[in-house]
Amino acid sequence: MSSADFLLLDGKAASAAWKEHIRKEAAEGVLVGKHRPHLAAILVGDHPASAAYVAGKIKDCEEVGFKSTLLRFPADVHKEDLMEAIDALNRRKDVDGFIVQLPLPNHISEHEVLLAIDPAKDVDGFHPENVGRMALGLPTFVPATPYGILLLLEHFEIPTAGKHAVVVGRSHIVGSPISILLSQNTPAGNATVTLVHSRTEGLEEHLRNADLVVAAIGKPEFIPGSWLKPGAVVIDVGINRVERNGKSRLVGDVDFSSAVEVASAVTPVPGGVGLMTRVGLLMNTLKAAHGLR
Ligand code: NDP
Repeated sequence: MSSADFLLLDGKAASAAWKEHIRKEAAEGVLVGKHRPHLAAILVGDHPASAAYVAGKIKDCEEVGFKSTLLRFPADVHKEDLMEAIDALNRRKDVDGFIVQLPLPNHISEHEVLLAIDPAKDVDGFHPENVGRMALGLPTFVPATPYGILLLLEHFEIPTAGKHAVVVGRSHIVGSPISILLSQNTPAGNATVTLVHSRTEGLEEHLRNADLVVAAIGKPEFIPGSWLKPGAVVIDVGINRVERNGKSRLVGDVDFSSAVEVASAVTPVPGGVGLMTRVGLLMNTLKAAHGLR
C-alpha cells in the first residue's frame, strides 16, 4: 500500500466537524423555540479515569452550547440516595438526558441503576428498552461508542454496504451493538458481519477476509498488520495503557505501525474512536432535547 492511498481516520477532525454540526443544530433549535439541550451526569467516587471522562463530557457540552449538570456522590453513597437522585433526574423537566458514569462501586448493582433510568432520558443507550429498540431498528439512543464509529465512517465517506466487516469483541457497549448496526438494512449498515470473540477459532483467517475491522478487545497491539487484508479499513476501539522505555502511553488493540503498511485506513489511538464516543453522547443529548429518540 503506498502512502498516497492511506487515510488516517483522524478522530480530531471528524469530531470537530460533528461538534460544529451539533452546535448549529442546537442553536437553530433555540431560534425556533426549542430549549438548549441539557445533559446531567452522575459521578460516584473519585476514580481518576471516571472523573476525567465526566469532565470531558461537561467540557464538550460547553463547546456545543449545551447546558450540563454534574452530580457527585462519595464512593460509599447509600444505594437509596443514588436511586433518589436518578428518580429526581427522571422527573426534572429541564434535564433532557443523563448518564451514570460506570463503573460503580461494588455495593451498587449497575444493572439495577440502568433499569432505574427513564429510557427516554437514557442517552448512554444502555437501558434494555433502548437496546431492544436498537436491535429492532427503531429510533433510539445508540450507545455512544458504536454511534461514534458510524459517525466516523460517515465523515470519511467509507462505504459499508456489501463489505465484510469483522468485529472483534462482543461486549454490550461496543462489539455487540456495532455488529448489529453494521448488519442492519440502513445507509450505515448493509455489511456482512462476522462477530468474533475469545472462543473463536481461526481469528487470523477471519481477519484476513475482512474489508472492515472493528477491534474492541482490550489487549494492547494484539492484531498485527500481517493478519489484515490489504486495503482493509481498521477501526481500533481499544485503549490500553502500556509502559514503554520507562514511559506510560496509550495504544490500541491493533499494532498501528504494522497496520498502516497493509490497511487503507486506520484510526489512531489516542485521537480516534475515543473522541467520536464523546460525539455520540452529544448526538444522543441533542436527540433527547428535540424529542427524536
Ligand atoms: P470487554 O472486556 O467488555 O470485551 C472484550 C471482548 O474482547 C470480549 O468479547 C472478549 O471475548 C474479546 N476478546 C478478549 N480476548 C480476545 C481474543 N484473544 N481474541 C478475540 N476476542 C477476544 O471490553 P470492552 O468492549 O468494554 O472494551 C474493549 C476495549 O475498548 C478496551 O480497551 C476499552 O478500554 C476500549 N474502549 C474504548 C472506548 C472508546 O471510546 N474508544 C469505549 C469503550 C471501550 P469474550 O466475550 O469471549 O470474553
